[in-house]
Amino acid sequence: MPRRLLGRLTFRQRVLLWQVPFWLLVLLSYVLLTGALESRVQATRQATQTRLQSEQLASVLQAVVDMETSVRGFVIVGQDQFLKPYLAARAALPTALVELREQANFAGNRAVSPEKVDHLSELVTRWQSEVAEPEILARRQGNEQAAQQMVKSGHGKLLIDQIREQVQLSKERETQRLHADEATAEERLRHLRQLLLLSGALLLLVSVAATLGGTGLMSRSFDAVIQAVGRLTRGEKGVRLTTATTQEFRAISLAFNQMTQQLEQAQQSVLTHAQDLATRNEQMRTLGELSDWMQAARSTEEGAEILSRPLPTLLPFTQGRLLLFNASRNLLLPLVQWGEDSVLLPTTPDSCWALRRGEARFPQEGRFAPPCLGEGSSSTPHDYICFPLFAHGETLGLLRISAQRDAPSTAVSVTSSAEERRRLLVPLTRQVGLALSALQLQARLREQSLRDPLTGLANRRALEDALELALHQSASGQKVALVALDIDHFKRLNDTFGHDAGDAVLVKMGQILRELTPQHGLAARAGGEEFSVVLPQHDALQASEWAERLRSQIESWSLSHAGIALGQITVSVGVSVPTTQETCKVWVKRADEALYAAKRGGRNRVVVSQALESVEPAGA
Ligand code: GH3
Ligand code: MG
Ligand code: MG
Repeated sequence: MPRRLLGRLTFRQRVLLWQVPFWLLVLLSYVLLTGALESRVQATRQATQTRLQSEQLASVLQAVVDMETSVRGFVIVGQDQFLKPYLAARAALPTALVELREQANFAGNRAVSPEKVDHLSELVTRWQSEVAEPEILARRQGNEQAAQQMVKSGHGKLLIDQIREQVQLSKERETQRLHADEATAEERLRHLRQLLLLSGALLLLVSVAATLGGTGLMSRSFDAVIQAVGRLTRGEKGVRLTTATTQEFRAISLAFNQMTQQLEQAQQSVLTHAQDLATRNEQMRTLGELSDWMQAARSTEEGAEILSRPLPTLLPFTQGRLLLFNASRNLLLPLVQWGEDSVLLPTTPDSCWALRRGEARFPQEGRFAPPCLGEGSSSTPHDYICFPLFAHGETLGLLRISAQRDAPSTAVSVTSSAEERRRLLVPLTRQVGLALSALQLQARLREQSLRDPLTGLANRRALEDALELALHQSASGQKVALVALDIDHFKRLNDTFGHDAGDAVLVKMGQILRELTPQHGLAARAGGEEFSVVLPQHDALQASEWAERLRSQIESWSLSHAGIALGQITVSVGVSVPTTQETCKVWVKRADEALYAAKRGGRNRVVVSQALESVEPAGA
């Protein structure tokens, strides 16, 4: 039976199919046994018939013998009473012959044919007409001699012998046929037994094979299910059952396969969620760490240094930059950069659509988004993210990310879903914005606490710190000098030209001091119209020369305010270098004393402490 057809059978149909050989066996046995029984009945019937025929033949022969004996007795004695058996037999004989004839006509009777019966009947009739009747007639007529002569002629004996021979022959033939039928029946029975044995054995074999095959299939199907369940329990993946089996097992297999598929999908989903959760946890941990480090930073530069480390980790397979507005907010200055080789130049805020619109820009968001103006032609409109940095309602700058060229497509990068990107970038930019804003505020406060707002120079507090440091460096053998200067007759200038004009002169003083102060020096407004300059790597002479250059430049100014010339501005300058074991206060005091000495000496001059050497102005 084709495998495909087997596959369509139900278990019930298969079991019924296995029973078919048994049923065939029973049916065959019935048919064969019925045939055998019928054959036996037939044989018995023929034997009975043969026996009846033999009896009939015997009675016919007996009647003939009786008639012959009776006639002979009558011929000898001549008394009628001797004829009684003859007459009785003659009356009964036709009936016996008719019955014999009927039996001969009976289908299947092969012992006595109708022709034989007719021949027997003819012999009997001939004996009656040719022998018995003439002998009886002759004896009745008293002609005993003639009657005896007829008997002696032997014609009667001849006919009787022929009749006896006929009967005997029929009997013998009948017996032979009976034996032949018996032998045939025996033979058929033997064949039947052999056939029954052979077919029974064959059908039993088929049945055993079918049962073994069927139960084997069942067993294999159950085993497959049990093994699959075991493998599934051990956590194996891709466990599937074959569907090429019985209908019931196919239904079980399909349900099992569907169940395992759904289970695998659920496991995959759980795994993905777990990985997602782990990634988020890691991101949050990194963000927390970033926040801690940013709080420890003291300047935007330090903040940039810190940010440059976690940003590539938090945004793998990306390249990007973080840009901040400059103080005048007309430029975006690069602060952090990763994954990009090119040196970034400041750009204008107008070049960024995200800054113009005041919201983040993601790839595939906004069908009408134009390409970034700052990226030139190499950038396509959709492959980058621009995320403005906000803090306290102010836009600080911009975080710009794009996918690395060799980034795998499956990597979590700008190619991941918008939801994932937002989930990370929103807290990241908020935190970075707040941290940078705090650093900028910190820098502003520090600036305010250490810098004079009018002149832009360091204030007294910053000066004192610098002096402490300079004194410390001087103790280790390094040269340092302090220059103290005071604008001459500043009160008069204020009084003459107004406070604003005085302020303008102070601002101008700040400018020249910033210009002339060397790189590691510090120019400060000590208070009012007094200034101090710390000059590292300067001894008294070098400092006095520097102070002289300053003094002479100021002297050469021709300032005006609101269109009114302010006249000549001059300064008096005192210079001191620290001596060993000297405190800061004494060092400053000596510079002041030199300054006062310069005032006393007629102003517009430089006086060096200790030596109290006055450097006279050229025109003084
Ligand atoms: P001397 O040559 O002896 O130094 O005379 P002076 O007038 O410069 O000295 P004085 O100490 O008498 O006057 C200092 C003046 O500086 C008094 C004050 O009004 C003025 N002043 C102090 N701070 C400022 C300021 O911030 N702006 C302006 N416009 N004037 C100031
Ligand atoms: Mg003064
Ligand atoms: Mg003064």
